[in-house]
Amino acid sequence: MSRTAIVTGASRGIGRAIAVGLANRGYDLALNDIDRQKDDLNDAAEEVRGLGRKCVTILADVSDASDCKRAVAEAISGLGHIDVLVNNAGILKLSTIDEMTPELWDQTFAVNTRGVFQMTQAVVTHMKERRYGRIVNLASLAARTGGPGQSHYAASKSAVVGFTRVSSMEFGGFGITVNAVCPGIIMTEMGRNNLREPERVAYFEKITDLHRLGQPEDVVGPVAFFASDDSAFVTGQALNVDGGIFYS
Ligand code: NAP
Repeated sequence: MSRTAIVTGASRGIGRAIAVGLANRGYDLALNDIDRQKDDLNDAAEEVRGLGRKCVTILADVSDASDCKRAVAEAISGLGHIDVLVNNAGILKLSTIDEMTPELWDQTFAVNTRGVFQMTQAVVTHMKERRYGRIVNLASLAARTGGPGQSHYAASKSAVVGFTRVSSMEFGGFGITVNAVCPGIIMTEMGRNNLREPERVAYFEKITDLHRLGQPEDVVGPVAFFASDDSAFVTGQALNVDGGIFYS
């Protein structure tokens, strides 16, 4: 029986790299993204199928609890069972605290934090019944040290690290591990929008031990480790995947 995984926000960027990376490691996949990314999501699914893996696509908004329940039900019906949930969908819309609107604060938490909770809640009964599960949450370097304009994002990702720890405590007795990765600056659409000017790219390259910024593929190995049985005795952790930009 093939291992299976749901990846949220999988049409592009880090989520798509994780999808392809898991497909290359033999996983069948349920790929999710929001309605507006339908074409890119279908494209990602074709890439996975081209690697010889089964792949279903699920359009759903992770900030909507009923969408999350439907997404998990469709994934189970399409793949038979779910071994792994990768909570990857996230948003970053820069704003200083002075200019922050309550709406932007709430939207950020609705996707980045409540989305993780809702997808976890939707899948965990199934994982408990099977007494097996791997949940991997995409937190961020911002959970360790955010930058100006990221207060809402840093708070939402710090909450993901806290949620990861308590999920690990609650689910460990059912054979379910829960871990987080904290990527540094990864050159996706989000990463590029975050940095904007070439001078900032050069600055962050300079202060990173590896003297480069990340590519989506740099996040795949750590996620695949937490998704696999190689990490069977590792849970409740948050691993920096940042080329050496922050130490904790
Ligand atoms: P990205 O390129 O913006 O991709 C994120 C995907 O998630 C997009 O397709 C996005 O669609 C989708 N999405 C947004 N809201 C959603 C929702 N409510 N339901 C389902 N899907 C939704 O971002 P990325 O850089 O690959 O980041 C992936 C994850 O890593 C995020 O959680 C991010 O916070 C985290 N991360 C990224 C970096 C970085 O430097 N790139 C660093 C640390 C952590 P739309 O674009 O249409 O909204």
